[in-house]
Amino acid sequence: MRVLMIAPPGAGKGTQGALIAAYFSIPHVATGDLLRDHVARQSELGRAVQTHLQRGELVPDQVVLDIVRLALATAKAAGTGYVLDGVPRNIEQARAIYRIALELDMTADVALHLQADDGELVRRLLARAALEGRSDDTEDVIRTRLRVYREVTHPILSWYGQRGILVSVDAMRPAEAVGREILAALEVLHSLTEHVPEQARRTIDLTGLGDAFGHPSPSDTPG
Ligand code: AMP
Repeated sequence: MRVLMIAPPGAGKGTQGALIAAYFSIPHVATGDLLRDHVARQSELGRAVQTHLQRGELVPDQVVLDIVRLALATAKAAGTGYVLDGVPRNIEQARAIYRIALELDMTADVALHLQADDGELVRRLLARAALEGRSDDTEDVIRTRLRVYREVTHPILSWYGQRGILVSVDAMRPAEAVGREILAALEVLHSLTEHVPEQARRTIDLTGLGDAFGHPSPSDTPG
């Protein structure tokens, strides 16, 4: 199973990425975690990207593309899939990762989109700040990260929609419920991807399921 996760900050990428990785026994590659680790160790790379992280801005594309190339090559050598969490964040990264994955014959089966509205995301991120004290979980930086997501990350979803590998889930619910829905969708896709060529696949939008159960679906627009 080869998964890309695209979600605004606070939607639960880390939690759901770890769940997917454990369930399918695949590596969980979270660019944000790797970059924070470099900053904590004050490596050369860490010193170069520290200000970007503190401001909630994207680090240069080449930095994350190098991380992704290594992660995909490692997964290929190990004969596994992967779950990439937090990348791609803009259309240039999306295209470059597609090229890297094509070269390695490791293109993604699924672009998993976690959808949630801004009011809920800010509430969650401020709650996390109180627990973990992440330096980019202050209200100002949270606003910047959400703006970056809306302006440059969210638009790439349509590109994955055209490729027929987009799966959107409603991430406003408790993590357990979201996780169950993700695993159920990925299980089905896992069996399908072997038989259905990419061009013949369709986008799967599960975000409206809330209506069927009597609660409104999230808008994924500023709230
Ligand atoms: P995250 O943990 O995914 O919220 O990422 C934390 C921070 O790491 C982001 O605000 C960016 O500064 C940086 N970052 C993580 N992934 C990427 C990426 N794919 N492209 C550029 N910057 C990234």
